[in-house]
Amino acid sequence: MRTIKNDHIIFKMKKENKPALTCRSGDMVTFHTLDCFSNKLIPEESRLGVDNPRVSNPCTGPLFIKGALPGDTLKIEILDIEVGETGVTIVGPSDGHIENGLEDHEVIRVKVDNGYAEVTPTLSLPIEPMIGILGVAPKEGYIPTALPGTHGGNMDCTQIKKGAIVYLPVFVEGALLSIGDLHALMGDGEVGECGLEIEGKVVVKVSVLSQVSEVGPVVYVDDKWITIASADTLQKASEDATNMMIELLHRSGHSKLDTALILNLAANLKICQIVNRYKTARMELSKKYFLDKKIFD
Ligand code: CA
Ligand code: ZN
Repeated sequence: MRTIKNDHIIFKMKKENKPALTCRSGDMVTFHTLDCFSNKLIPEESRLGVDNPRVSNPCTGPLFIKGALPGDTLKIEILDIEVGETGVTIVGPSDGHIENGLEDHEVIRVKVDNGYAEVTPTLSLPIEPMIGILGVAPKEGYIPTALPGTHGGNMDCTQIKKGAIVYLPVFVEGALLSIGDLHALMGDGEVGECGLEIEGKVVVKVSVLSQVSEVGPVVYVDDKWITIASADTLQKASEDATNMMIELLHRSGHSKLDTALILNLAANLKICQIVNRYKTARMELSKKYFLDKKIFD
């Protein structure tokens, strides 16, 4: 299988990025990723301004997928996620909205072994690896890897995990897929601004769905469809995610009335993250509520 090593790093998603690798629709590719601090905080004594854009949120890529054209959809099957041995997380006083009683920031290095993270001597947690950033290049200009949007990006969605299928719109030829910011574990919301940040390897299968357009990131995992939206406020992100779910329900064959009722009675609105420049919400709905017409392929 072909691999993109973690020395092919980008900090901006844009069409001018030189592809690290070119593949065909249907190919499997492994991405080796650095943690969101470019692995700089792993050494015990390291100190770092973690907001430095030159080290924050590196993504591995981009992958150029032959045949992907604007207006298509890129289907990304997350076949495997393997995380490294050392995770890093930062905990400390927040900007005043969360009263955790802490006075200083602390960088905590965490040994990850055998499916568990030894966070402190009194706190061992089972890991649930996920991908924080996964995105494609926008049509024009650039989007920093730190931002989420219709192109994917820094969604910090706990549901982008092994077994998930992610659908992203294609804006430029080749799509230019990049991946980074793995978390060994993260709670929905990422309320303390940091997951258990960790390097790792992601195996994906990428397929181009021709002329199947969509409005933004959609995920299928654990027998449910998920729409993901990011905006200035959680309110707007929530509405956008809901509108995307309406589109999926219509595509599956539901009437407008039934769609509205299903949303009210069965769909679950959840928070991905409240800490990035744009906030990210998702709507989840079990596949049992969809009719037979195909949504993507
Ligand atoms: Ca993130
Ligand atoms: Zn992260």
